[in-house]
Amino acid sequence: MSQLLNLPPAEWPAWFKERGVPAFQGRNAARWVFQRGATDWQDMTDLPAGLRDDLALDAPLLSSTAETESGAKDGAVKTLIRYPDGASVEAVHMPGTAGHTICLSTQVGCPVKCQFCASGLDGLERNLTAGEILEQALWLRHRYGSFDRVVVMGMGDAGFNLDATLQALDALMAPEGFGMAARRLTLSTVAPAGCLPQFAAWGRQVKLALSLHATTDALRHELIPGVAKRSIAETLREADAVFEATGREYTVEYVLLAGVNDSLSQADELRRLLHGRRCFVNLIPYNPVSGLGFRRPEGSHCQAFADLLEKSGLPVKLRLSLGRSADAACGQLRRRKAEQG
Ligand code: SF4
Repeated sequence: MSQLLNLPPAEWPAWFKERGVPAFQGRNAARWVFQRGATDWQDMTDLPAGLRDDLALDAPLLSSTAETESGAKDGAVKTLIRYPDGASVEAVHMPGTAGHTICLSTQVGCPVKCQFCASGLDGLERNLTAGEILEQALWLRHRYGSFDRVVVMGMGDAGFNLDATLQALDALMAPEGFGMAARRLTLSTVAPAGCLPQFAAWGRQVKLALSLHATTDALRHELIPGVAKRSIAETLREADAVFEATGREYTVEYVLLAGVNDSLSQADELRRLLHGRRCFVNLIPYNPVSGLGFRRPEGSHCQAFADLLEKSGLPVKLRLSLGRSADAACGQLRRRKAEQG
């Protein structure tokens, strides 16, 4: 267990003190891990050798291993992180013109069971702890260098494991942790009951990405069974309250599925739903998953959908999906490894 990573970085000195080690060594160790990229106690050359050995036995820093890499032509690399109980998740490193972004998972499997997603096929295996979420960031930095942005959009839905996810985000922002600005972090969720009010009360300027994917309750419930009791109207009202609490505009994520939610009348309905709201729209042409039966719309059709929204004054981004060419959609790398045994 990565028990130390489950503690806020500011509490590391007290943890050391409880074990009879001077508190400053806890601050020193946190600096090594979060700012200098250590992934092993033995990396911390200014800690006494005996202490490093004791810590390695008592509190291994990283519980997980980083296994398979799957690279795409655009430079995105997926890594499979495997925990001691055999559970595995995907974490992704994505280079970009505005810096490097990493994408983290919050659950093993996913309870939401979106009909178009590989991660949801087998349901939820278990939640990750805050430390296990942070381990993904530590592995990715160890392998690919520092990163500038973090998106919590990998396997699972952060809204269904919110306490651990917010704790991990706090460690990413803490001065004794990674020291990142809140504005460089994004949390994505389908927004189950209670999630957005908790996020608003937390009050950090972390960006909310709301996975909407439909313009009617009936279609959203069909596509996203995990929010079958929630109305779009209530969900958007709660997202507005997040803006009121944080001053941060939110993103509406909309996966374009050919013949399902991509008609121009649905674009018009989306325009109507979002009119006057402090949000912008991320349109994501679908990455097909074998066996699921959904298709990616033609590029020109995606553009027409985007144009209709844009003409009404909504800020829109038609997103090129990084990682498209290799196990691109979320959950595919893990699924392929599981099938290979
Ligand atoms: S798209 Fe996200 S929320 Fe939906 S099943 Fe996949 S991982 Fe879960």
